[in-house]
Amino acid sequence: MSTLYWLHDDLRLQDNPALAAAAQDDALTMLFCIDEARFNTDRFGNRQMGAHRWRLLRESLLDLQHSLSELGQTLNLVTGNPSEIISDLLQTGRFNRVVRTRQHTSAETMLWQHLTESYPCVSFEQYDGSTLYHQDAITFGDTFPATFTQFRKSLDTVAFRPTAAAPTRLPAPTSFELKTRLVQAPTESGLLAGGETAGGQHLEGYFSTDAASTYKDTRNNFIGERFSTGFSPWLAQGCLSPVQIYERLCAYESHHGANESTRWILFELMWREFFRWHASHYGEALFSFTGIAGKRPLTTFYQERFLKWRDGRTPWPIVNACMNELKQTGLLSNRGRQIAASCLVNELALDWRCGAGYFEEQLIDYDACSNWGNWQYIAGVGSDPRGGRHFNLEKQAETWDADGTYRQRWAGQPDTGPLDSRDYYDWPIE
Ligand SMILES: Cc1cc2nc3c(=O)[nH]c(=O)nc-3n(C[C@H](O)[C@H](O)[C@H](O)COP(=O)(O)OP(=O)(O)OC[C@H]3O[C@@H](n4cnc5c(N)ncnc54)[C@H](O)[C@@H]3O)c2cc1C
Repeated sequence: MSTLYWLHDDLRLQDNPALAAAAQDDALTMLFCIDEARFNTDRFGNRQMGAHRWRLLRESLLDLQHSLSELGQTLNLVTGNPSEIISDLLQTGRFNRVVRTRQHTSAETMLWQHLTESYPCVSFEQYDGSTLYHQDAITFGDTFPATFTQFRKSLDTVAFRPTAAAPTRLPAPTSFELKTRLVQAPTESGLLAGGETAGGQHLEGYFSTDAASTYKDTRNNFIGERFSTGFSPWLAQGCLSPVQIYERLCAYESHHGANESTRWILFELMWREFFRWHASHYGEALFSFTGIAGKRPLTTFYQERFLKWRDGRTPWPIVNACMNELKQTGLLSNRGRQIAASCLVNELALDWRCGAGYFEEQLIDYDACSNWGNWQYIAGVGSDPRGGRHFNLEKQAETWDADGTYRQRWAGQPDTGPLDSRDYYDWPIE
């Protein structure tokens, strides 16, 4: 009998509580499911997995495959429907235990629940590895804090979860090999590299400079060297954990001193934390039109407008620059995301879910909890006490791109033609 370790957003050896627990058994099979459905298009024409993130994910998997082989283990990659893959494996009777890192979104939670009920003789164990806190510390029950501030304050005195040491040895892989090995493709120069190795190098690189001491002053910029930490792509795939970042931040503060900027990095990591537990609490409402607030926005889906936004052909150069950067690189600053999202919801009056879905396709740091939570916040159907955000696009451009460098870099030209070829009143009603 042996353990099946089902990997998700935890592609690392360091500080991985699920791996540390899985390593206690005599035999271990490590599995990552590549869900084919993620490559299909939805009703808005978006895919869940676009080319940028797929490249990064392959690199992260390859890096883990390599690290595991040095410990005598194998990373099995299976393509298909995860529910069917896990069910087929459990039906072989080879596994008496399934281990994973706790997931926070509704589909992953429901699938786990379903498997737990379907295989009562198997022990299902989840470990908190993608958050700062252990679930036991999150004791809000049915009354999740209404705002981020309340969430943060209520956890002020609660300790973060302890880190898990990286295993120095792992149990042997089970005697059968499941499938597929990825073939190493060289990372194109200039592109951000995926994997725990690259993530660790980035973490060290960032804290070897004094960028953290000015983070609060620069974090709203669009462009520039280390204007923000850049941790998100590795956090999203679990090549870095938030606790690892926190510990490195503390080490930096003990050498360079703490200030408002260094503290603000933790503040932002708390936003990520908030959206994780918020997703756990609200379940499917995170993805619904009326959001967690249960408010129906006065927006619809009109394809012509959506395509103009997506392809950077709106009347607003700053929005077009953001959309061009996103499409070409899979990256976009926080300020750029807020502006692009606000434009879709407020200027273009489009259903916020088509924008959130497009970000999901394009972003290399896509994280369901943060993406859909932030979109709801801006669309006014989330946890924003102000009931949504409407950014003044001209003012944003003047403040944050005063000399136009960013708009020039990403070819943000205004589209001067009419926004719609059909009169607004003739739009199809969804
Ligand atoms: C519409 C919209 C969609 C977004 N989608 C995602 C997403 O899919 N994945 C994602 O990781 N972030 C998302 N964010 C949050 C934020 O834009 C990114 O985390 C940030 O730009 C990543 O760059 P960084 O690592 O340099 O961030 P930094 O500014 O250096 O922040 C450090 C870390 O704090 C966390 N963080 C910072 N801001 C936020 C925030 N507003 N919400 C949650 N966590 C935050 C991230 O983990 C980030 O890596 C979204 C924001 C908006 C407005």
